[in-house]
Amino acid sequence: EADTALYRAKEAGRSAVHLYDEDLRNSALRRLELESHLRGAAGRGELSLVYQPIVTLDDGRPVGVEALCRWNSPVLGSVPPDRFIQVAEDSGLIDEIGDFVLAEATRQIARWQAGGLLPPRFAVTINVSPIMLRAGLAAQVRDAVELAGVPAERLAIELTERLLISPTTEVSDELGQLRAAGHTLMLDDFGTGYSSLSSLARLPVDVVKVDRGFVAAMGSDRRAEGVVQAVLRLAQTLGMVAVAEGVETGEQAQRLLDLGCDRAQGWFYGRPVPPAEIETLLRAHG
Ligand code: C2E
Ligand code: CA
Ligand code: CA
Ligand code: CA
Repeated sequence: EADTALYRAKEAGRSAVHLYDEDLRNSALRRLELESHLRGAAGRGELSLVYQPIVTLDDGRPVGVEALCRWNSPVLGSVPPDRFIQVAEDSGLIDEIGDFVLAEATRQIARWQAGGLLPPRFAVTINVSPIMLRAGLAAQVRDAVELAGVPAERLAIELTERLLISPTTEVSDELGQLRAAGHTLMLDDFGTGYSSLSSLARLPVDVVKVDRGFVAAMGSDRRAEGVVQAVLRLAQTLGMVAVAEGVETGEQAQRLLDLGCDRAQGWFYGRPVPPAEIETLLRAHG
């Protein structure tokens, strides 16, 4: 087959079609390679969590952190989550990763709590894949929280807007259970296009996160600013707290404050960092 392909390539020259085939084949191979190294990564200690502060916009006080997964592969080096989460979701490895994230985040809450470092209402947020939600997330979260011995209020859960494409009764039920247990539910990447107003109003979500794409475009693009404004107004109407993601400059922060946004997250306030650096931050504010 390779010979035929080579022959065809020689014959046709470096045609666009051939290049396309090759790209496709290479990317399929890369995904397979990634997948094979990702399998068992949690058990080998290759995964870790970094934490990024979420602050109030008016006074910059940290009100929580978002836990973000990192993979350091001995073979592939450090691989960003944008490259491995999708592969994990497609291959079923997301359960393994999700288990790790849940266990590690709850253990970290327990450590910070034992050190007396957590201000009242300070929460650690984890990202969960829609696949995990369908597989009985509420029970899994309950077990992890119990095992670590932390109050449910300390663990918040971010769901992607993709979930709202078709919010089944199962999904609503899982979310209802999580919320009843005391977890704050946050809708991630809000404004990126999938959710309808009615599904947002129906789901038991407490916080919406304005996608960083809109925040980035705000200064230069009137329409992006319009979207931010509309999302903030919608959040307010529905009684939800709004968090702006990807805030990189003081100007963005000021504009968001003027538009009535409650909270922010981004490099302007702090990059995702290992737990020890969050401890320093908490001590400085405690
Ligand atoms: P996300 O949930 O939207 O997370 C925010 C991303 O924006 C993070 O990228 C963060 O490092 C980055 N970020 C934060 N502030 C700024 C800023 O000011 N400027 C810019 N340019 N970027 C900023 P990261 O850590 O690479 O994660 C990428 C995505 O991977 C996440 O997007 C999330 O969808 C997914 N992900 C990460 N960790 C997990 C996890 O534990 N579980 C699941 N299911 N998904 C995860
Ligand atoms: Ca997130
Ligand atoms: Ca996001
Ligand atoms: Ca995102």
